[in-house]
Amino acid sequence: MRIDIFTLFPEMFPMVLENSIVGRARRRGFLQVVCHQLRDFSPDRRGRVDDTVFGGGKGMLLTAEPFARGLDALCEHLGYMPYIVYLSPRGRVLDQQKARELSALPGLALLCGHYEGVDQRVLEEYGVEEISIGDYVLTGGELPAMILTDAVSRMLPGVLSEEACFEEESHYKGLLEYPQYTRPVVWRGREAPTVLLSGHHGNIEKWRREQSILVTQQNRPDLYEAYSKKLH
Ligand code: SAM
Repeated sequence: MRIDIFTLFPEMFPMVLENSIVGRARRRGFLQVVCHQLRDFSPDRRGRVDDTVFGGGKGMLLTAEPFARGLDALCEHLGYMPYIVYLSPRGRVLDQQKARELSALPGLALLCGHYEGVDQRVLEEYGVEEISIGDYVLTGGELPAMILTDAVSRMLPGVLSEEACFEEESHYKGLLEYPQYTRPVVWRGREAPTVLLSGHHGNIEKWRREQSILVTQQNRPDLYEAYSKKLH
C-alpha cells in the first residue's frame, strides 16, 4: 500500500515512520509513505498557501490550489487517483472498521490541515472523505495523519506476525480486550488469575470472552450496546 501525505510539516513524520511496526512494514515493502511539502505546490513564488477567511473572523485558511496541484501531480505520477482523506475534527471519528476498510485500498492521499482548516471547495472538487481522530481540536492534521497511518498499516496482511494479533485486540470484533498478565505469577501480593495458568484452552477462552464483555460494559457502554444489538 502507498500513502501520500500533503503537509506543511513533513519533517514531523520520520520519527514515527522509521520506528516500530510502521518502520518495519516500510522496510519489508508492505507500505510506502511519501510526505509532500504543501508549499512546493503553491502557485505563489514565495510558497504562500494560506489566506484570510471570507466573511471575516480570526485566523487563516489553507487555500484550495496547492492541495489540488499536489493531488493532480500525484495522480499523473501514479496513473490513478488514490482515495483522499482530509484529517478533520468535523469528520467521522476513526474506528477499527474504518482502518480495516482503508487498509484494503491500493493507495491513500492524506491532507493535513492547519490554521482554520482548508477551503471547502477542494474537498468537494475531489470527493474527499473527512476523518477525525476524536472529539477535540488539534493544531494541525499531522498527528492525526500519523495515527491513521499507524492504524491502517498494522492491518495490512503480513505486517503483524499473526493475523490473530489484531483479531484478539480491542475493537476488532466490537468488544474491548480482556485483561492480560505476565510473570511473576504474584506481584505485590496480586495473583494472576489461576485459570490462565491452567493450560486448559477452553476455560481460558471462556474466561477471556467473559472478561471482554465485562470490560466493554464497564468502560464503553456505548460499544457494548452496539455489540449486543448486532447479536440480536
Ligand atoms: N477550524 C477547524 C474546526 O473548528 O473544525 C479546526 C482547525 S484545526 C485548528 C487545524 C487542523 O488540524 C485541521 O484542519 C485538521 O487537519 C487538524 N485537526 C485538528 N483536530 C483534529 C481532529 N480531531 N481530527 C483530525 N484532524 C484534526
